[in-house]
Amino acid sequence: MGVRQEPYGGLWPYLTGLRCAGCGAPGSPWCSLCADSLLASTTSHRQSGAVERLIVLAADTGPVGRLVRRWKDGPDASLSGIIAGLGRVAAASLPSGSEPSMVTWVPSARGRRRSRGFEPGRVVAGGVGRHLGVRPVRLLRRLDSATQRGRDASHRQTDIRISSRGRVMGDVLLVDDVVTTGASMQVAADALRRSGARRVTGLAILQRSLKG
Ligand SMILES: [Zn+2]
Repeated sequence: MGVRQEPYGGLWPYLTGLRCAGCGAPGSPWCSLCADSLLASTTSHRQSGAVERLIVLAADTGPVGRLVRRWKDGPDASLSGIIAGLGRVAAASLPSGSEPSMVTWVPSARGRRRSRGFEPGRVVAGGVGRHLGVRPVRLLRRLDSATQRGRDASHRQTDIRISSRGRVMGDVLLVDDVVTTGASMQVAADALRRSGARRVTGLAILQRSLKG
């Protein structure tokens, strides 16, 4: 049949980190073609709510979408270094002069954080913070335990409960891994604004469509 038998039913190259999580090409966990495809893909849009501007690295249709799915659904913490690297790439597109005084992330629901063993927004914020020379701080607390995936847009915003952990000052860069409707990010930004943030800019590495 021409199909090469691999140990662990074909999982071996992946388990050993020898297959690109973006396109499946053998050789490395994140290949240079997938990395290059991101260089010009970052978008930046003005928003109407508490998030003044939203910066997104990539759309769901490309290699980043596959990478993020594998990272979160696996879950596969060994891909966190690559994800943090994407955070650095996204942060590089912040207009000069708009560097934030604080970097934080949209907190995950508690059950999710426990079952994954990592908090996706925090991993991305780590890479963003390294690029900016600003140490990410946990400014927000998640009060709901529900997962947003698969809910319709009208339920998302009302069910998400996020509060601030204290006073916030200056301009805040609010990081998440994925934005779908942007509901969690808006709720988080509202909490930051109420606690004193002057301006909130959002940053995510992936824009996911509602159907995805
Ligand atoms: Zn690739």
